[in-house]
Amino acid sequence: MQNSLQMQTDTSAVRKPSVLNVLKCKCPRCRLGDMFYEKNPYRLKSTLKMREQCEICGQAFDLEVGFYYGSSYVSYGLSILISVVFLAIYALVIGISLNDNRFFYWLVANAVLLISLQPILMREARSIWLAIFVPYNADWRDVPAKKPERINEDQKNNW
Ligand SMILES: [Zn+2]
Repeated sequence: MQNSLQMQTDTSAVRKPSVLNVLKCKCPRCRLGDMFYEKNPYRLKSTLKMREQCEICGQAFDLEVGFYYGSSYVSYGLSILISVVFLAIYALVIGISLNDNRFFYWLVANAVLLISLQPILMREARSIWLAIFVPYNADWRDVPAKKPERINEDQKNNW
């Protein structure tokens, strides 16, 4: 574990990690540390178990009380996007008509698709939401991460 972390840190000195690392639920500040303890989002008991802060750069993942309520906007947007893309593919492959029930089959299939993708969507929404507020910082090794100011330790995890 320690070795693999060390290797990641070394290669990052050579080039900037891709912004796509946000989609892998990496810390937005260094794009290297994992936000979630469990890699597999379908282990439902730990789907949303997040680290307090980035193991690599020390960025806090909980910026203020109730911070991740806002991620539902991202989740909503992602669900709409997936629905539109799925409808387009469905219309091209199977077709949609006013004279039969194919549109309703799409509705049911889309609902099943969205529900089965929920664990991934919830994680992506949190990761993207955090990345909106925490930009990449190429100097993360030298500049210490800001401590969150609006965290109430007594009320933590009380939501
Ligand atoms: Zn980090």
